[in-house]
Amino acid sequence: MLATSTLEISAKAYRQNIRYIRSEIGPKPTISAVVKGNAYGHGIAQMVTIAEKAGIRHFSTFSSDEAWEVWEKSKKGSEIMILGMLHLEELEELIRKGISFYVFDFNRLEKAISISKSIGIAAKLHVEVETGFHRTGFDWIQREKLAEILYSNKAFISMEGLCTHYAGAESVSNFVRVKNQIARYHEFKDFFASAGLGFKTYHTACSAATLIFPETIMDMVRIGIAGYGFWPTKETFFAKLNSLPKGNKNPLKRLITWKSTVMSLKAVKTGEFVGYGNSYMALENIRLAIVPVGYGHGYSRLLSNQGMVLIGGHYCQVVGTVTMNAIAVNVTKIKELKIGDEVILIGKQGGKEITVSSFSESTQQVNYEMLTRLPKDIPRNIIP
Ligand SMILES: *Cc1c(COP(=O)(O)O)cnc(C)c1O
Repeated sequence: MLATSTLEISAKAYRQNIRYIRSEIGPKPTISAVVKGNAYGHGIAQMVTIAEKAGIRHFSTFSSDEAWEVWEKSKKGSEIMILGMLHLEELEELIRKGISFYVFDFNRLEKAISISKSIGIAAKLHVEVETGFHRTGFDWIQREKLAEILYSNKAFISMEGLCTHYAGAESVSNFVRVKNQIARYHEFKDFFASAGLGFKTYHTACSAATLIFPETIMDMVRIGIAGYGFWPTKETFFAKLNSLPKGNKNPLKRLITWKSTVMSLKAVKTGEFVGYGNSYMALENIRLAIVPVGYGHGYSRLLSNQGMVLIGGHYCQVVGTVTMNAIAVNVTKIKELKIGDEVILIGKQGGKEITVSSFSESTQQVNYEMLTRLPKDIPRNIIP
């Protein structure tokens, strides 16, 4: 089966990104590759393969279904950690397979302990504490009850990690909030230590925290967006670029390229409208290429009359509305063009480039959102 577009995922770019992150964190901390959201749209199966080849043996997912996908694909000995959702019915199977998971409420914690006791296999727990993100995590006032439960069941469980997540480490406007979170995390850590409880790993940092709050780098960093070659925000980029040796280029490289082909060509006369409605009227005689990618394929409708693609080494503008399965682009300036010619939606062609952020700028979609909206069924090919 041939799809209307394909994604290429560069293993070389990933190796470069990991090298850069490693240079920032030093040799010791574990890098956990965050592969939630179908590996930020890159494909879990592809990313597990690429990451393991780059020496990564720790993976974070949001949910248990994603964890099972990693489980299928990963080598024996790779660690899998669930940051969020799992169904209690699945707990026993997860524990048996050695898949670790966050606990952020007593319900999940007690269930895990009781299963560990009954099957004689220690659940690998990451205890998440609330430091100010206000999504999940044990509250400060729950610490004593929590410590008691952990202490009295120490023999049955594995205390893999003590963790938290920062609320917007990618923006200086959250500086005070993040600093307070770091302080609260240390209070939790000290409290547990004084209660005789130690954890195998202490981990708090996502990409942005790793890059701009080095004090958040502990035993492990949870790297999502930076691994895929994107700065969490422009701010993070500029903050970091100033500290790179002069003349150094952006050390993060995009992995993803999105390609399609010209499906059809069409001439439109002055004064005619293109596509649904009247959002675009030809002001001169123009020629269009129809490209079989639309909002149903993750190409946002907000790119109507805004988006750009590359054909024959030229930037070509989307004209009219993005439809479910296709866009029309203006190819009037391209002399030689035929059906089947390559169209770049994200990536390079003839020295020009369409970046993911150029999408996000014209649509207000952040990188993260644009990437995770790429449907799972677009083929993803690994480029070595
Ligand atoms: C998504 C996520 C990360 C990774 O965030 P990036 O900004 O993509 O690096 C880390 N930790 C948790 C808990 C997350 O949910």
